[in-house]
Amino acid sequence: MRTSKKSIYNLAIQQILKLIWDYGPISRVDLGKISGYSKSTITKNCDAMIAQGIIKEESILKDGIVSKRTNLVINQNYAIVAGVELGAASCCVGISDFSGKLISKKNFVIDYDSGPETILDTIISSIKNQIIPYSDKTFLGIGMGVPSPVDFERGVAVHPSFMPGWHNYPVKKYLQDTMGCDVYVDNEVHSMALGENYISEDLKSSNLLFIKAGFGIGSGILIDGNIYRGSTGMGGNIGHITIDNNANLCKCGKKGCLESVVGGDALISLAEKELAGGVQSRLSEQLNSNGKLIVKDIYNAFKAGDPLSSQIIQDAGKTLGRTVGKMVVFLDPDSVIIGGDLSDFGSPLISSVYQGILEESSQWLSRDFIVRKSLNSKDVGMIGSAILCIDQLIQHKILS
Ligand SMILES: [Zn+2]
Repeated sequence: MRTSKKSIYNLAIQQILKLIWDYGPISRVDLGKISGYSKSTITKNCDAMIAQGIIKEESILKDGIVSKRTNLVINQNYAIVAGVELGAASCCVGISDFSGKLISKKNFVIDYDSGPETILDTIISSIKNQIIPYSDKTFLGIGMGVPSPVDFERGVAVHPSFMPGWHNYPVKKYLQDTMGCDVYVDNEVHSMALGENYISEDLKSSNLLFIKAGFGIGSGILIDGNIYRGSTGMGGNIGHITIDNNANLCKCGKKGCLESVVGGDALISLAEKELAGGVQSRLSEQLNSNGKLIVKDIYNAFKAGDPLSSQIIQDAGKTLGRTVGKMVVFLDPDSVIIGGDLSDFGSPLISSVYQGILEESSQWLSRDFIVRKSLNSKDVGMIGSAILCIDQLIQHKILS
């Protein structure tokens, strides 16, 4: 098929817009160098996008003096989008401007037994309420992360390990039909990796491994800034790698998955087993008064200096780190970021993870390899989902 002049024009302007999104603020000269397009092509297309309000010129300050030259950036006021993170028991819904900055957010508890439609209706209601103060802005789309492998093209969860009724439920279509906008659904840890890359200035490139450690264990892999989803959406499914054939049964049906050894339920079982074996701990009081433990009890005891809780967290960190270390050898990322509820345990947990990574990969690590906690563990999934939405709109929608 012959390529029309119109599609060549579209290709150029879309590529230039994507470069401004990825590298902005950026000068016209640098845009020409990176893209290979002539000065006249850059000027014509940038002027057209400025006229449409998608991008804008930004002054350059040098030594406190405003330069005559300008840079180009995405116009944050062009539109608004929603970013949604669906967790194991709660949901975060945020609204961001077109630069990815959150301007509104709400959290609420969800009950998966109520089924997908009820939960999606609650999300829709939250989005509608939050965009009321921004009625002068165009609402362009929704990005949503769910705690399950996802078929990205169809926008459906595939074989989630919990979430009854969500397997193959048409999440994308339901939201699109109800809200009349574009919708992009992905695994929630994939969104977190995108979000962390967006909020972090210390990440020197975009080869990033994000680990979410909570009740479930998952990972998001960024390669050159792009999410690696794999061929069926299972990419990064670290929680179900077998690490101990003799360990607990995992909720996926296998024995000894990483998640069944260091996930929240596993840590609670381990603490209860130690207490039953006669180990002295502050956790005994909680167990005796409530009949069961929750991760928050381990966290509180850990903060109060309880030796059993500290040991459980350090061992979990080390075990997690050894598995992550194998991925580090394989993928060669420049940073590993830890998010999720377990990251709340802070430096002791992160140091143990780092030690575990070192055991597996020390001879291949560069000196400036980063292992740290997420800068914003609570919001990073929501931010990443908004970024996913903007990125997809920029690449495939707003100029096509
Ligand atoms: Zn499993």
